[in-house]
Amino acid sequence: MSIRNCKRCGKIFQYDGVHKICKSCRDQEEKEFEKVKEYLKENPNSSINLVSEETGVEKKTIIEFIKNDRLIAEDLEIDAKLKCQRCGTEIKHGKYCDKCISDMKDEIESLTKKKDKKKKKSGRENMHVSDRLNNKN
Ligand SMILES: [Zn+2]
Ligand SMILES: [Zn+2]
Repeated sequence: MSIRNCKRCGKIFQYDGVHKICKSCRDQEEKEFEKVKEYLKENPNSSINLVSEETGVEKKTIIEFIKNDRLIAEDLEIDAKLKCQRCGTEIKHGKYCDKCISDMKDEIESLTKKKDKKKKKSGRENMHVSDRLNNKN
């Protein structure tokens, strides 16, 4: 357990290794999330500005919900722009665009394949060693 400053209110709290904000801010954020969700249920296709005004939830908090994929901006007219953190393309939710997500999947796959190759190589080396041993005998 370590002590940190809450990202939201600045108060010191016990950091649990996961949450960057304190318990009371988390409760507060949860309430705000519910409010926004309820509002969007009744009023789909609202702009962030309007949702913020009507619910009293800060715009940056709403954008944070979208970034964290808790809200999908389909019901929300985005008047703040989200950009893919990898290539900068405009996106509607999350942190990366669809293309980068599939690129990254490919990269992970090719990394796993490389590891497999290494394994096979070392397997062959082992066989050489045992061949030599056999020749000695
Ligand atoms: Zn806090
Ligand atoms: Zn991208």
